[in-house]
Amino acid sequence: MDDVIKEVLISEDEIHKRIKELGNEITNDYKGKDLVVIGILKGAVIFMSELVKNIDLPITMDFMSVSSYGKSSISTGEVRIIKDLDFSVEGKDLLIVEDIIDTGLTLNYLSELLEKRGANRVRICTLLDKPERRTVGVRVDYLGFEVPDEFVVGYGLDYAELYRNFPFIGSLKEEVYMNK
Ligand code: 5GP
Repeated sequence: MDDVIKEVLISEDEIHKRIKELGNEITNDYKGKDLVVIGILKGAVIFMSELVKNIDLPITMDFMSVSSYGKSSISTGEVRIIKDLDFSVEGKDLLIVEDIIDTGLTLNYLSELLEKRGANRVRICTLLDKPERRTVGVRVDYLGFEVPDEFVVGYGLDYAELYRNFPFIGSLKEEVYMNK
């Protein structure tokens, strides 16, 4: 990994410590409620796996896979659903789990969509946030870490489908994407 990582920004220990805190917070906030935790594939998988182990409630889990439409419609923020949820969200309390919020378009679209489908309440939990890059407002209820405006990989986040398995969050060396 030394050949592709410029700098380790957040270590595995720091990530696990923060996830424990988020799990406790979520456990306290949802006591007595039926919570559905919705992971956005594939980036959120590693974060979500660790997070749910730290939520001490009878939750259920579901997954969605989305991709943004081409450049032309980026301003609309519309996203294409590649894999939809398996279960109805009507009347349910939902927690969307995402790897990183960048412009905010994906989560802005998804939370509105799930509200339209009749969810009782939609909240957002993201491992990382790049607030400098935001173009639309998104209310982040649970946040792991803020990161600078750099391309990061690891702990589920990829570059060209690689590096998701790195146990830390690191910035990518420029030559990795220059050589492609
Ligand atoms: P948004 O709709 O907020 O602009 O896009 C969020 C998505 O962009 C994330 O789910 C992720 O797939 C991708 N993304 C944004 N910044 C980064 C980054 O620094 N590294 C990686 N690997 N993906 C990113």
